[in-house]
Amino acid sequence: MRTQVAIIGGGPAGLLLSQLLHLEGIDNVVLERRSRAYVEGRIRAGVLEPGTVELLTRAGVAERMRREALYHDGIHLAFDGRSTRIDFKALTGTGVTVYGQTSITEDLNEARTAAIGKLVFEAEDVALHDFNGPHPSVTYRRDGVTHELACDFIAGCDGSHGVSRASVPERAIRIFEREVPFGWLGVLSETPPVADELIYAHHERGFALCSMRSKTRSRYYVQCPLTDSLEAWPDARFWDELKRRIPKEDGARLITGPSVEKSIAPLRSFVAEPMQFERLFLAGDAAHIVPPTGAKGLNLACADAGALAAAFAAHYRGDDSGLDTYSERCLKRVWRAVRFSWWYTALTHRFDDDPFGARLQQAEFEMIATSRAAATTLAENYVGIFPGAA
Ligand SMILES: Cc1cc2nc3c(=O)[nH]c(=O)nc-3n(C[C@H](O)[C@H](O)[C@H](O)COP(=O)(O)OP(=O)(O)OC[C@H]3O[C@@H](n4cnc5c(N)ncnc54)[C@H](O)[C@@H]3O)c2cc1C
Repeated sequence: MRTQVAIIGGGPAGLLLSQLLHLEGIDNVVLERRSRAYVEGRIRAGVLEPGTVELLTRAGVAERMRREALYHDGIHLAFDGRSTRIDFKALTGTGVTVYGQTSITEDLNEARTAAIGKLVFEAEDVALHDFNGPHPSVTYRRDGVTHELACDFIAGCDGSHGVSRASVPERAIRIFEREVPFGWLGVLSETPPVADELIYAHHERGFALCSMRSKTRSRYYVQCPLTDSLEAWPDARFWDELKRRIPKEDGARLITGPSVEKSIAPLRSFVAEPMQFERLFLAGDAAHIVPPTGAKGLNLACADAGALAAAFAAHYRGDDSGLDTYSERCLKRVWRAVRFSWWYTALTHRFDDDPFGARLQQAEFEMIATSRAAATTLAENYVGIFPGAA
């Protein structure tokens, strides 16, 4: 088999890249290790920057999003029970769109399956070959048969534990990493959200986030020790803890119900540099991870896919400048998002045995609540306005 771009991983980055390339007339094949049902069932992100919405619109997969998504002009930021609203629209001229990653993946899969054979699920033992020369290829096994896919380029969109980044010699890659000493316990419930907009709450018992996927589906999180197990968190304990951490008036309105999904996720910052190795290009979580506090992971993955699609399109028109600068341009945006996600996590979470840090958090919250400049900085970063970054 032969294609122009072999894409490893059928998450948001891989699927969006595939669709954008298809629209440019560039042949590509997506190799995904899991089944379609598994990929579509993963509950993850849900807040989209305007740039991501624009990309999905350009990719021709925005019809359902336009019908079903919620549009938020701001967020509520609560500090020890006191709430302040950050009005994104007033401060930046734009807001964010709330639409689940599961729905985005379904929409992209729907569009891509029209191109039969270009989306291979349950591709086992994917291996990358010769990406440092002019004739790269990828091998994989499907139903016990080994296939070889020759290509011009390989796009590694296979998340943080994928094979693409792991195939790069250690000496060619530099890793920047910082761990967070706690996790997020997340619950999805078929209940109406407690508020029209997201509530980020700092509390002495730990951070809490009230998010949503639709007007009838809520996504809630509480900060928890990474050593906790799900068994330690029956629904009743989760709801009780969430209620204690959010402002009283919100807690009084909270409608609880059985959880339909519950998981504990670690939080960390991770960047691999560069994002290009000759004919292998990394995109999305394969190259970088951020704590979910700033809602940047999915948005970065889509931005990389958009930049890479445009660079491939330019290459096939005879201009390699996009490919040559891909890594440098993406990393500018990535580091802006890494910085914001780290700062926002440090502001809103509880860190043990750090009374000095707790006072700094309080002072910072006061600054955001009373200074338009400070609130604007938060708002610009949240909606994804990163001047100077691609
Ligand atoms: C539990 C959790 C919660 C999250 N919550 C949020 C949030 O609230 N907000 C936010 O912005 N972000 C969140 N994120 C991050 C966000 O979901 C990711 O940034 C986003 O999924 C990145 O997309 P991607 O396509 O780069 O990677 P992925 O979505 O990880 O997709 C990679 C794909 O590659 C496939 N793959 C892996 N290895 C191989 C292989 N060897 N061969 C073939 N295929 C392979 C995987 O099966 C997967 O389908 C969360 C992530 C997790 C794990």
